[in-house]
Amino acid sequence: MKTKDLPQNYHLDSMLIHGKVNSGNWDYSHHLVPPISSSATFKLDSVERGAQGFTEFAHSGEPGAPDHKPIYIYERLGEPNKNILEENLAIAESGEMALTFASGMAAISGILCTLAVSGDEIIHHHTLYGCTYSLLKNWMPRFGIKTTAGNLFDLDGLKKLITPGTRVIYFETPVNPTLELIDIQAVSDLIREENSKRGDSRKLYMVIDNTFATPVCQNPLKLGADFVVHSLTKNIGGFGTDMGGAVIGKRFIYDLLLLYRKDFGGVLSFHSAWTHLVYGLPTLNMRVRQQERTAIQVAEFLASHPLVESVNYPGLPSFKDHDLAKRQMKDPEGHFAPGTMIYFVLKGKSPEARKEEGRRMMNNLASDAYTVTLAVSLGNVKTLVEHPGSMTHSAIPAEDQVLHGMEPGGIRLSIGLENPADIIRDLRQALEKQ
Ligand SMILES: *Cc1c(COP(=O)(O)O)cnc(C)c1O
Repeated sequence: MKTKDLPQNYHLDSMLIHGKVNSGNWDYSHHLVPPISSSATFKLDSVERGAQGFTEFAHSGEPGAPDHKPIYIYERLGEPNKNILEENLAIAESGEMALTFASGMAAISGILCTLAVSGDEIIHHHTLYGCTYSLLKNWMPRFGIKTTAGNLFDLDGLKKLITPGTRVIYFETPVNPTLELIDIQAVSDLIREENSKRGDSRKLYMVIDNTFATPVCQNPLKLGADFVVHSLTKNIGGFGTDMGGAVIGKRFIYDLLLLYRKDFGGVLSFHSAWTHLVYGLPTLNMRVRQQERTAIQVAEFLASHPLVESVNYPGLPSFKDHDLAKRQMKDPEGHFAPGTMIYFVLKGKSPEARKEEGRRMMNNLASDAYTVTLAVSLGNVKTLVEHPGSMTHSAIPAEDQVLHGMEPGGIRLSIGLENPADIIRDLRQALEKQ
């Protein structure tokens, strides 16, 4: 993206509302809000202009540059709502480009299948969102892409895993669901050292799922990541009405990823693009800041409760990765930003007993709580609670979950916008009923 199109010295929260100063994708100079662009196909005016559109597609010099009016052809190739959302997502993560997909999983499979080909290897952290784990374990090997699970807290161990065939290092930080952190800067240093020994065509890339932190709590590209993926379904969408995914990062992959999206077909619908653009991104910073203030209070409440064994929240000084959190989780103004997610375990004599306590508490919440809802997903205006072991992470075998730091009874809490006192009241009542 050309810097002259970006507003100079404005804050990120303002830019998430207004986007670029001039956008070639913006056809509506008299609208304050871009209209929902509901058109599956577009008028081409002449055979020559149509042919030019096909020639230019995925051969763009500067996507979205003001002097470059895209020739819209067909919704699956690109249309105004998605294109403007992509400009603003690139701003949100300070990326050179962004491309949206139908869901977070479509974005993750898109970037991985574009960076790696048959014969290559992807190294990933052993604990991941269940569907990402399943994609890597069950699907990638069918296409001849080797996947290796490693412990990315241990950088020496990671270094030993890397082979000449390794093309991608993939992880989440905070890790879903345990909220443990991986040191992005340190992994970046390791990759830079490895790449200094490789030719340009064999570079190793770092891809980070930044869904948990959101762009307003952590900026992996500035810490050395090559690509960030998001589930827009979560905090970026924020209201839980629409699915979506995005890849944000280096420019060189843009055309190939656009071709991939055209042929595999997992495009974000224009309507979902519009809600993320008009409601999601502009309110992201404000929502996350409020949710975060509440999360700190809820984490402190849980940590001090006699029935609670442990609380993983990057903002708690007692959290094992608190120092790393302070270094790498920052809001757009550079202040500590520990996020909106909490993982906790109730007391019990054995893992089985803790699992039973957790099950009881979540059922108490499901039946009695007003502000806490038992549901998967996260980053919603409503506070959501779920049991990763049997829900979001059920694709990971139970033995592997335990081996890699997931407690069988671990509870994941996503803080919403309700009054903090009400969330704490509902949690206290559920604990009193145990
Ligand atoms: C939900 C989620 C995904 C998948 O996103 P979808 O939009 O549901 O496809 C990927 N990564 C993380 C961390 C998630 O929480």
